[in-house]
Amino acid sequence: MKTLPTRCLITTCLTTVCLFTILAAPSRAGESGETMTTKTTTQPTSQPAAEINVAVEKTSEGDLTLQPINRSSVRFEFKGKQYYVDPSGEADWDRMPKADIIFVTHEHGDHLDLAVIRTITKKDTVVYTSAASLKKVQESQAKEEEAKSAPKLPKFGLIQVGETKEFGDITVSAMPAYNVSEERKNFHPKSRQDNGYVLTFGDKRVYVAGDTEETPEMKALKDIDIAFLPCDPRYTMSVKEAAEAARTLQPKIFYPYHQGPSDPNEVKDLLKDEKNIEVRVFPLP
Ligand code: ZN
Ligand code: ZN
Repeated sequence: MKTLPTRCLITTCLTTVCLFTILAAPSRAGESGETMTTKTTTQPTSQPAAEINVAVEKTSEGDLTLQPINRSSVRFEFKGKQYYVDPSGEADWDRMPKADIIFVTHEHGDHLDLAVIRTITKKDTVVYTSAASLKKVQESQAKEEEAKSAPKLPKFGLIQVGETKEFGDITVSAMPAYNVSEERKNFHPKSRQDNGYVLTFGDKRVYVAGDTEETPEMKALKDIDIAFLPCDPRYTMSVKEAAEAARTLQPKIFYPYHQGPSDPNEVKDLLKDEKNIEVRVFPLP
């Protein structure tokens, strides 16, 4: 297994602290063009808690627990620490483990959900995200400071496309995530520099792609053990496009996630000749 190339030690690019804000969660009926417009609902429900969709994989440094929670949210547990990518939307967040580090890919409400972040935050939780996403948080903070009503947020830091940082037991690289097809380009323009993430746990490399199509950068990725690729034809890729991206990427395990109106089970059929790729379709809450 290859290790990541350049490693810049984390020198805590913390730019904003103690934010107070109320960014809203996405519409439950869809993403409303992937904007943050509707009110938040994070009350406990009978939705997934810590034990739903959980898988455990061996790494050179012990077990990696991974859990796709809902449409966009993924949790990892490694060496006793909790990592989340895009914790958002509906789930039984009150019963989920508190986060050590949260990585947010971009500003859309089905990825950046400050109500959920607040719910899984503990004393020293830190959130890392892109510059554009960080700006959205700061704007909300400014509004909220006027209202003086929202509870405290954790520290936020910056990780930008092309950067690789060490966070104690794990290494994380920010990958570019953007649309390449004309009809979708307005959702995730390359110029906004949204993130995807490659997280390295021991000798295992996990790619959580975020909202993207198959970009040249994705095509060039090597040695991915576990991949989460989006398959919503409205904003990212169709099931067929996601399957083709996985065929190029050749992960050992492929989770079609960020599901839309199409059925991710079709991926299994589309990749049935790829004997080295295990496709894992998980139920949404
Ligand atoms: Zn998006
Ligand atoms: Zn999205």
